[in-house]
Amino acid sequence: MVYSNLSSVIRWASIYWIWTIALRRTLFRCGLYINSYWTGEMKCPFCRVDNDRVIDSRSSQDGFSIRRRRECLACERRYTTYEHLEAAPLKVVKKGGIREPFQRDKIRRGLEQACWKRPISDHQIEAVVSAIEGELFEMFESEVDSRYIGERVMEQLGKLDQVAYVRFASVYREFTDVRDFVDELRPMLDTEKRKSR
Ligand SMILES: [Zn+2]
Repeated sequence: MVYSNLSSVIRWASIYWIWTIALRRTLFRCGLYINSYWTGEMKCPFCRVDNDRVIDSRSSQDGFSIRRRRECLACERRYTTYEHLEAAPLKVVKKGGIREPFQRDKIRRGLEQACWKRPISDHQIEAVVSAIEGELFEMFESEVDSRYIGERVMEQLGKLDQVAYVRFASVYREFTDVRDFVDELRPMLDTEKRKSR
């Protein structure tokens, strides 16, 4: 029997296994072997395929999060991920002092609603979410005021699309009358006027 000596089979199997891992690790470090197993499972936000290449990776100032620039090997689009230690989650302080864990999806949903049927791509939305998230994790160590996040979203939306900006502002600012609304829009309208002159 070929497999008569079980212990020798186990020994060879484990040697094979160890060397396979060592080889993959080395190849990965050289950027030649890419597998989500080594980079952490990460689905492409655009095409949902879990196969990407890490282009750049650096830790943030606080050392608790890692920013990774990735390229999807399926659709070749690039995106940024922020990986954080679960032990040090960022908390959002809401109105009335209620605290909840930071959720990037909330920002994303707010943006998606504001950009509904506007000429804004998923890529642009994702870029805004990543920019805001990155900034939050760099600036705040444990807590961030929800109003700050709202302001940042408004600022980014203002650059992206005026209709989306107005939609977001009307929900976020909870305008009580038309005057508040006009006051909010005035700076933007003034800029427009100056541009069109
Ligand atoms: Zn993709």
